[in-house]
Amino acid sequence: MKSVKSKLFISYSLTIFIVLFLLSSSGIYFFSKNYEAKTFNQLETTLSLIEKTLIVNQKIDLGNIPINNNIFVSIVKNKKLLQTTLSINKSKDILSKYDYKINNFDEEDHEYDGYLEVNDYIIKFKSIIVKNDEYQIYIGIYEFILDEFLDDIYLFVSILIIILFIILIVLGYVLINKTIRPLKSILEDVSTMKNKKDLASRLLPQNTNDEFEELTTTFNEMLKWIENNVNNIKQFSSDASHELRTPLTIIQGEIELYKKGNLSKEEIHETLITIDSEQKKLQNIIQDFLLLSKLDKETLSDEKSLLDKVIFDVIELNLAKIEEKNLELELEIDEDLEISFSEKYLFIVINNLLSNSIKYTQNGTIKIEAKIKENDIYFLIKDTGIGIPKKDLSRIFERFYRVDEVRTNSQEGIGLGLAIVKKICESFNYTINVDSQVNKGSTFIIRRPDTKS
Ligand code: ADP
Repeated sequence: MKSVKSKLFISYSLTIFIVLFLLSSSGIYFFSKNYEAKTFNQLETTLSLIEKTLIVNQKIDLGNIPINNNIFVSIVKNKKLLQTTLSINKSKDILSKYDYKINNFDEEDHEYDGYLEVNDYIIKFKSIIVKNDEYQIYIGIYEFILDEFLDDIYLFVSILIIILFIILIVLGYVLINKTIRPLKSILEDVSTMKNKKDLASRLLPQNTNDEFEELTTTFNEMLKWIENNVNNIKQFSSDASHELRTPLTIIQGEIELYKKGNLSKEEIHETLITIDSEQKKLQNIIQDFLLLSKLDKETLSDEKSLLDKVIFDVIELNLAKIEEKNLELELEIDEDLEISFSEKYLFIVINNLLSNSIKYTQNGTIKIEAKIKENDIYFLIKDTGIGIPKKDLSRIFERFYRVDEVRTNSQEGIGLGLAIVKKICESFNYTINVDSQVNKGSTFIIRRPDTKS
């Protein structure tokens, strides 16, 4: 398996190589074109200077003309070599070859604009008449001077490019190494976590201020979320088995008692009543479990239901208990309150809240209010019961949470009612809030802002 580092390094080196190659070759091409143009320009300037001097003075001394060492100049007057910058023999040889070439013109010899290559010189000539005298000015440059200079430039550029390439490769390697390092440390952490099988461990924070830091933070948040969920599941199964065990133990005890066989008719009757009541408790607990797991999985459909009708159905179901405890019921319920809530689940929510109010209120009033206020439908259940201490308020919606065992143990329940209520409300986009004072009472209020009536 190739590492990310080597992949990055190979693509980086290739890119650097291509960029440097293109840059240097285009640089050399433009430089040599420019250098050639400059050299021929210099020849043309010298040529026109000689021409002007001849016209003005009718004579010339090449010693007074500024001529570069590598430039060849010969002046022929009326077919006779007058002056030259090279030896007379060499000059004559060059000129005769030039004249021959000019007369037997071949396209291949015509390398540069108006220039011909003779004896390693690139030469051009101009003929002028000054006071009946015919002058021919030959001007040229030693070809290797041009090439030599360009060769030097190629060598210089190649060395420069190689040095630059090595520097960039080293820099790139260091940079890629530094950039990739957090990934290595993340991989090591993850593999240690896998080996330790420890959900509580976290990745070491990366303060790189880039995607690696974001990855570590997000991964740690996800781990925390998984850890919480796993703990919740563990807690739930331990609480659930505990809740199931209590009625089962009671039933078991009653059966053992019956099996001893020395019970009177009345005692047998009482045993059966206890067994029946405990098996009902078991049924309720299992029903709550099933409902919670259904709520965890199911996406609830946004049906419509009449809130006022559901409230009255719940009251009817609980009326006997209200009367039994002699509680006063106060109602402020608007009519035809159509809301987006499944009727079945709305019934469960209101029933759980009202049952709690009845359960935790010894005397006084239970008030139910359901209204539309500025397009905002809300309903509340308020009681004058035992209330909930401030420290418990944030926890009463947790699964199996019951306030103060001593005071709640006397009441039936396993602490799942409000968890179910909250889960249902959230599923239908309603919020539930509680306001409570110990020994004064509690108010549970449910609303869905932005609900259109
Ligand atoms: P439980 O089965 O114990 O009633 P719930 O989830 O319905 O479980 O409620 C959680 C806890 O919140 C209860 O044990 C009780 O201590 C407290 N509680 C709920 N409703 C009321 C209320 N109306 N008045 C006082 N305490 C309440």
